[in-house]
Amino acid sequence: MSLKVFKFGGASVKDADGFKNVGKILKKYKDDKIVVVVSAMGKTTNALEEIVKSYYANDGNTSTLLQQLKAHHFNLVNELFDAGHDVLDDINDTFVEIDWVLEEQPHEDFDYTYDQIVSIGELLSSKILTHYLKSLPLNSGWLDVRSVILTDNTYRDARVIWDTTQKNATNKILSALKDVNHIVTQGFIGSTSENFTTTLGREGSDYTAAILSYCLDAESMHIWKDVPGVLTGDPRIFDEVMKLPRLSYKEAIEMTYYGAKVIHPKTIKPIQNKQIPLYVRPFLDPASEGTVISDEKELSYPPVIVIEHDQALLHISTNDFSFVAEHHLSMIFSLLAKYRLKVNMMRNTAISFSVCVNNIPDRVKKFEKELGGEFKLIADNDLELITIRHFNEDILKDMKKNKLILFEERLQDTVQMVVKNLPKMKRKDIHS
Ligand code: ASP
Ligand code: MG
Repeated sequence: MSLKVFKFGGASVKDADGFKNVGKILKKYKDDKIVVVVSAMGKTTNALEEIVKSYYANDGNTSTLLQQLKAHHFNLVNELFDAGHDVLDDINDTFVEIDWVLEEQPHEDFDYTYDQIVSIGELLSSKILTHYLKSLPLNSGWLDVRSVILTDNTYRDARVIWDTTQKNATNKILSALKDVNHIVTQGFIGSTSENFTTTLGREGSDYTAAILSYCLDAESMHIWKDVPGVLTGDPRIFDEVMKLPRLSYKEAIEMTYYGAKVIHPKTIKPIQNKQIPLYVRPFLDPASEGTVISDEKELSYPPVIVIEHDQALLHISTNDFSFVAEHHLSMIFSLLAKYRLKVNMMRNTAISFSVCVNNIPDRVKKFEKELGGEFKLIADNDLELITIRHFNEDILKDMKKNKLILFEERLQDTVQMVVKNLPKMKRKDIHS
């Protein structure tokens, strides 16, 4: 069966107009077989995270936060549907699952509870979207992706168990697509073999779409976004960014690895393995092709800038000024892996080892603690990691303005630097 996988992110379903726009796009494909993967509405995942935190902190705000989220969803439903529509019961029942969790004392495993609550965002948005598509009418059905994507029990960062997922996908989705044209399902979530809900890591819906594309041998995968395609830099930070019409899988993997937020880093590998083209397309201009990511080699790329915020540079040395030797490095690396600190750059000298990581303060603290008394750790925080692929000297000079460069490295066509933004010093106007 020839099918496409479409992924709509939170920004595409942030309000009633968003759902209407998704409906308009799918109408253009009404006779195609499509698996539609949807994220939670707008900032719902963040709101659910706040609910979990508040529940664990026992700060008394939990039910207010939940009421706000419910109101937001019900207001939207009232805008999209006539009074008394079935969707209301469906949404009510879905929220009840959160009520049940919150009635109990917090489970000792925070990450487990997080997944049971935060996953509700995608269940809600996918149910609303399915009801809405049916009302148009489009020939659509809803699927609980937890009956397809099997994972291990690493809550908040679950790993896919591919062989079972593959079997489930072909059994359940292909047969469902015989009856309807569009199957709407959830991004970001999965299930353990014991039927506990898991999540695949923040922004994981792209990855879900890639998993399903892979398992179903999709003809193409399409990520619908609020930008024209893959750009040469973040338009919120830079003027005059340019859309890249074509990108190789390899270039896309490199860009996302360095922190480009346009696609989740885990997305490319599964579709590259099966040579499935990935289109990154603007949901506000569905006729535009956006960016095509495929195996085609591009001969040359313009400079592409990727900025990662919240970096920490950790300087580790031995307390007695002895050399940092290989057995020390081996220990340092195993702890970095244990606390899942992503290493972005590193360098060692005779008596110190410096490493730039994504700063997740509680993990850095645990890392430091376990390093123990033999080592001294000094951390520089609030840094940025700037990566420029296909750089030229002009761009480099421009990027260094008003910045303190703590660490810089050039490798073939890539420059990386860890920088601190300097305040612009201005001479005071002193009148005598
Ligand atoms: N809703 C989830 C998040 O915001 C997953 C996603 O949007 O891809 O992280
Ligand atoms: Mg999102």
